[in-house]
Formats: sequence, C-alpha cells, structure tokens
Amino acid sequence: MGYDLIIRDATIVTVDDDYTVLEGQDLAIQGNRIAAIGPTGTLGDAAQILDGRDQILLPGLVNTHTHVGMSYFKATAAAMELFKWLEWGWFYIERMDDDDIAWAAMLACMEMIRAGVTTFSDMYFSEKVIAKAVAQTGLRACLSESIMEPAGGMEMKSTVASQLAYARDFFEAWHGGADGRIQVMLAPHSPYACSADVLTRIAALADDLGARLHIHLSETEAEVAEAYEKWSMSPPAYLESLGLLSQPMTAAHCVHLSDADIALLDRPTFGVSHNPASNLKLQSGIAPVHKMVDREMAVGLGSDGNGSNDVIDILKDVYLATILHAWQEEQQPTRTCLAMATREGARALGLDDQIGRLVVGMKADMILVSVDKARTVPVHHPHDTLALTCHGSDVTTTIVDGKILMQDGQFLTFDAEEVLAQARERSARIFGAPSPVTEL
Ligand SMILES: [Zn+2]
Repeated sequence: MGYDLIIRDATIVTVDDDYTVLEGQDLAIQGNRIAAIGPTGTLGDAAQILDGRDQILLPGLVNTHTHVGMSYFKATAAAMELFKWLEWGWFYIERMDDDDIAWAAMLACMEMIRAGVTTFSDMYFSEKVIAKAVAQTGLRACLSESIMEPAGGMEMKSTVASQLAYARDFFEAWHGGADGRIQVMLAPHSPYACSADVLTRIAALADDLGARLHIHLSETEAEVAEAYEKWSMSPPAYLESLGLLSQPMTAAHCVHLSDADIALLDRPTFGVSHNPASNLKLQSGIAPVHKMVDREMAVGLGSDGNGSNDVIDILKDVYLATILHAWQEEQQPTRTCLAMATREGARALGLDDQIGRLVVGMKADMILVSVDKARTVPVHHPHDTLALTCHGSDVTTTIVDGKILMQDGQFLTFDAEEVLAQARERSARIFGAPSPVTEL
C-alpha cells in the first residue's frame, strides 16, 4: 500500500539550512517520519492522501514558552506591569484544582493545534495532569513543573521541598512519555523567585537526571536592577556564578541583556525564548533579538501564557518579531522570524535533531496553511506571506508525529465541544470572586 500518508501538490517551505522552497511537490510520511519528498505524482501510493493545492506546507510551529494552566486568563486584564500582574493573578491561580488545570491544558492544546503549534514548552504546576492532556491530544511538548518560593505578596500552598520531589517524580514518570513526544525539563521559575540554595539544588538535580532547565530570565528592568542590588551582578552573571549555565537551558524573555550578558549566554546549550507579545503587553521592553540572531544563538518564539498574551498564535508572534526589531535587510527578517517559529525554536529546546525542518528523516510534525484568501493573495514569496499576512486561523491541517490532529479545521483526537463547555463552567467559578489586588 506504499506510504501511510502523502500530502500532494503543496508549496513546501522546508526551513532547512538553505531555506529551500519547493513548488508542486509531494511529501510522504511513514510512521512518525518524513519518508520522501518529490515532484507531484512521483512518490507512488499511500493509505491516505491530503490535497495540498493552494496551501503552504510548513514545519509545525514551536511555542518555546507558555503556561497552559493559565488558558482561562485570556482577556482578563489590559496592559499592566509584570509584578502587579503576578500579584493580581496569583489569587486565581490558587483557586484552581488539578481538574481545573487539566481542562485548562486541554483548552490551550486545542487552541495551539488550531493555530498550527505542534510542539510547546510549558512551565506550570501539576504538570502530571498537563502531560495527560499532551498524551490525549497528540501534541509534542517539553513540560516542566515550576519551582518557586513565595515572592512579593504571594503565599504558596506548597513548599520547595515538595516541588522538588514532584519535579523528580514527574521526570521519572513522564520523560520520553506519550510515545516519546514528551521531554521533561526542570523549571526554577526565575532567579528572583528561587533562593541561591534552591537554584543550586535544581542544577544538581538537572545534572543527575540529564534534564534541561527552563527559566524566566531578565524579563524586566526592575528584575535586573534588583539583581544588581542583591548580588551586584546581572541575572545571567548570577546564574553563571551558581553553575546553572553549565546545564542545557531554555530561558524565556531575555529582554534586558547587556552585550556582556549576551556574550555570556552565547553557548551551544543555551536557548532563548523570545515572547514579543507578552513583553509588549506587560510593558517589559523589547529584547535585543537581532544581536542574538547575529551571533547565531538559538532564538525561538514563545506565546507566554494566555494571561500575558491573550491568544496563543505563534504566527502573530512571527509578525511582531518581524516588525519589532532593528533588522538589517541582509538579516532577511521574514525568513529569520519564520525560522524562529520552527527550526530555531526546536534548537532552543534541544530538539533540532528531531523537528523544525521538512527534511527526509525528520519527525513528521507539519502544518498546512491556506493562502487563497484576500488577506494572503498574491503570494510573491511564501516566507513573506507567512510572516506578514498569515494568522493561526489560516492553518487547515496539523500533523504531529505522523498523526493528523486537525484536518480542515476539525479536531480528531478529542471532543472540542466538551473542552469549551468545561472551560466556560470552570472559569466562571474561578473568576467568580474578585482578586484582593485591585490596584493595577
Ligand atoms: Zn512565562
């Protein structure tokens, strides 16, 4: 019977190292891998054929930083500064139980599949229930249990000791889980929300387990100023002084970095998650992304949680990254930012040997994007069209590990109506009482 699946006659945006674009080609999938790419009609037969005409076939989008447990927080607050927002939101976070988080994760997974995200990197609480949502929906994910101590006005139900024990247990139970689609990381929330002792204990645990670290880093000017006050050095220098940068790490935000910080972080094991929409909404600033890209550092894109971005639509973040930075023309911003959402995002998570490019042998994570509407016609060049005109809603089909999760906008792995109903009911209860923090 030939291949399992062939996508026929699409424009293939490979995002390989040469940014090759192939017109009128077929791509064949066998099991969970890309088995062949060739001119339309030359690859033989398959059990299932998808029509790729008038569509772009693109590597699945990689969302390098989010908090899926916060999907009920979309459109709850207008622009506000990070620390105030955290204080305000903490009240609602503490009102959520594991079932609330499980359905919040399903809602976020549904939103991501709809918008063409095939891999996401999450940091939240109760990651064991989030892992079940990943297993059910069919997505690929890097999951990390947030480890933090009370900061500011927060009070916390759990202790650091219990969080560390949970993180180890979670790693042992789920690393390589869901048929290899789940990678477990360790997540010290940030240099400011963990003591030096806790940071070094997490680094030791990461070393012991061979786990990658996921952290928030240099997100705001206030965070950097506080670091100089407390430790007389920048947050990256502080992490280096504690030995954390010796571990493979993905750091979200990296907005306020000096040139010395960038040089310190420029190492093959370090990945950056650039979150342009979140940084704008929380008035954190604009990350020096063009400088990091110039050094060929691994910079991916992240949505951050729905609370600080409202929607998870990585194509929107591609657009923002394309127009936000002081790019030089030779940096080719549209294709560079598209790579940040695919190949470079994979590299920022340490997954670039598996995903991020449409090349024979890679895992079969890909999306079809329709470009036959007024907003997208004419297509002068697919890279420009994708970066500057496309939205997540233009994605028609989402495939992860060779399996179709969404076809023509229909979800194939779960009951979408139930996810929406649960989200409406549970969020009404959680947000039914006002946060005591009203000064925004
Ligand atoms: Zn975050």
